[in-house]
Amino acid sequence: MISAVEFQGVSKRFGETVALGNISFSVNPGETIALLGPSGCGKTTVLRLIAGFERPDKGSILIDGMPMAGLKPYERNVGLLFQHYALFPHMTVEQNIGYGLRHRNHPPGQIPRRIAEMLELVRLVGFGQRRPHQLSGGQQQRVALARALATHPSLVLLDEPLSALDAKLRHELRTELKDVLAAVGSTAIVVTHDQEEAMSLGERIFVMNRGAIMQSGRPDDVYWRPDSRFVADFMGRTNWIHGSISAAGESYRKFRSESGWEFPVVTTGSLSGAAEICVRPESVEISSDARSAGAVLGRVADVVTLGAFRHVVLDLVSGDRIISACPNRPDIAFTRGQEVGVSIPPEACVLFAR
Ligand code: ATP
Repeated sequence: MISAVEFQGVSKRFGETVALGNISFSVNPGETIALLGPSGCGKTTVLRLIAGFERPDKGSILIDGMPMAGLKPYERNVGLLFQHYALFPHMTVEQNIGYGLRHRNHPPGQIPRRIAEMLELVRLVGFGQRRPHQLSGGQQQRVALARALATHPSLVLLDEPLSALDAKLRHELRTELKDVLAAVGSTAIVVTHDQEEAMSLGERIFVMNRGAIMQSGRPDDVYWRPDSRFVADFMGRTNWIHGSISAAGESYRKFRSESGWEFPVVTTGSLSGAAEICVRPESVEISSDARSAGAVLGRVADVVTLGAFRHVVLDLVSGDRIISACPNRPDIAFTRGQEVGVSIPPEACVLFAR
């Protein structure tokens, strides 16, 4: 299968800044990739290189198997939706959507039909004659998406497509964006610094840091099986417990925290000696029976309500402090000072060498 996009050892510097250091990856046709990472890690540079606004210092970029070296942006069949998606303010919605079609010499007779199709796709039928300032933020965002997709590009690049919207609209448009991309069948690369957005939009996530791809994989794999401390922390809230391996079996290790809390951890690695484990708050189980089997005694230090979840801060008798996330339901209540049993399922931890 020919990759829709392929980077082969691509490096890019801006003066002293290494924006990308020798990165390689490939994207399958029709796949949606989320590029996730902190500010300045090189996400936008990846998009700008694919679009042809920048040239790599080293390495090759291929689109549909064709090397892009020397091709101008307009010679690449790539749809773009850049940050803040500046629509042309003096043009109507229809003119905005048709812009790329006119510039790519699309047969003029077919342009109105294509615009109508795009309006339907982004659910803006009837809005064609409005100007951007007569639209809500979400509507403007959808016009920008329609403009990016109007030329039926085989590849679309979306840089923080939902960042200008408020949280509620962002959540709603995530699903719409996914539907639209699926309907068009384009390969898509979406840049975001929001891990939730990356997990909900990307079929695969590339987690970037300092010009490198730290890990790539399906959202659940990256979330539950991070292979570095950076990825574990970047993907979401994490408890870290320091200690060492106290016993080893074929598919498990016994982990002993510095404070003496011992529990088994499922692992296929060959780790021994000093170690730390990462465990997501939602994996930490609390039982109101403080002496339940296999649990360590803990005391509730604080309860933080976060809408759908509560974070229960726990001080364990061993001296460790960890956080458990549990659903915010009226029938489950924990109070400060309450004694509880705390346990961690052996398969919910990831072990790292220290
Ligand atoms: P953000 O999430 O803040 O948009 P990003 O991950 O998209 O960040 P890039 O825009 O790709 O990051 O930038 C990567 C690095 O390259 C940064 O350190 C940035 O300052 C630098 N950089 C990017 N473009 C230029 C430029 N034209 N001139 C100089 N430095 C640049």
